[in-house]
Amino acid sequence: MNKKHIAILGSTGSIGRQALDVIRQHRDLFQVELLTANNSADLLVSQAIEFDANAVVICNEDRYKEVADALNPHFIKTFAGMQSVCDLVTGDSIDIVLTSMVGFSGLASTIAAVKAGKTIALANKETLVAAGEIVMSLAKEHRARILPVDSEHSAIFQCLMGSAGADIEKIHLTASGGPFRTWSREAISKATRHEALKHPNWSMGSKITIDSATMMNKGLEIIEAKWLFGTPGDKINVVVHPESIIHSMVEYADGSVIAQMGHPDMREAIQFAFSFPERLTLDNRKLDFAQLGSLSFQAPDFDKFPALGLAYSALEKGGNMTCVMNAANEAAVAAFLQDKISFYQITDIVEECMSNADFVKHPDLDTIFASNQETLHKAEETIKRLQM
Ligand code: MG
Repeated sequence: MNKKHIAILGSTGSIGRQALDVIRQHRDLFQVELLTANNSADLLVSQAIEFDANAVVICNEDRYKEVADALNPHFIKTFAGMQSVCDLVTGDSIDIVLTSMVGFSGLASTIAAVKAGKTIALANKETLVAAGEIVMSLAKEHRARILPVDSEHSAIFQCLMGSAGADIEKIHLTASGGPFRTWSREAISKATRHEALKHPNWSMGSKITIDSATMMNKGLEIIEAKWLFGTPGDKINVVVHPESIIHSMVEYADGSVIAQMGHPDMREAIQFAFSFPERLTLDNRKLDFAQLGSLSFQAPDFDKFPALGLAYSALEKGGNMTCVMNAANEAAVAAFLQDKISFYQITDIVEECMSNADFVKHPDLDTIFASNQETLHKAEETIKRLQM
């Protein structure tokens, strides 16, 4: 394998740090070109020095000087602001762009990288939820390969590798069920931020952990799968699998089902996106089936987790509706993390924004950005009203 040069957008977050751990194990195969962060200046500086990055971007311009001063003696170039991310990500020296920023904020830089024909290691699922049709058609036009980093989608991608192009009959998207899987609806309605942040299997950032508690994360993943694999919503089945060993499955016309397995460790999916189509060693925990004993499965509860139904209906509606759903969810999750609203108000806000949305069947990119802004605004109004 030739040495691959990598940009990590969001290097100080959970996925970014795990990506650097993958690179740490294969320094001869991967070179860090660009690292970006929103606010975590100290960690960005230490990462840039350890991995001898070519350049960094600190998105918060107020922290530019401290980062630039720290990196100047190391001859590492420092830039500030989101526009710098969009500009630098197109650089000739970059082969792979890992999109591990949080939420809709990742869309502009992902589009810049796609237009530059980069290989995208896609961790930022909200990009495809908000603008899947646009991103996928730009990727085709500019021959940018999009490799999934979300564990379920990496699993599906791997399950498809041996299929010689056969049509997918069904995708079985596995879900851990999150921290409230066994709770009653009554108990969930009183769940606190701390309880929602305790994910049983995966260690992740706070936004995605709340999304896992509401199961909106699985809703976003249904939409992500539709765009990555061209599979309509009615062929994407969610199955709750509390052990998180099977990361997802693909069923073919003959009823044969291929599953991909491993202990929950995001580094596997990150590394595979970096090394594809090759496989490299990784210092992770290997499966011991005799010790596992059994795996269990159950149907998701659409009543306890209304986010799932909202995601299926947004996908069916199409157009800008999935963008609206995503924006409302981002605003509501942020409010829940600040203890401004209760747990079920997250999905209530999403539902309200979806039913009041200005629907556009074939949105262009400007319409997507406008829908996102407008929905954030409407959701904020609702949040204020709920607090009164
Ligand atoms: Mg996932």
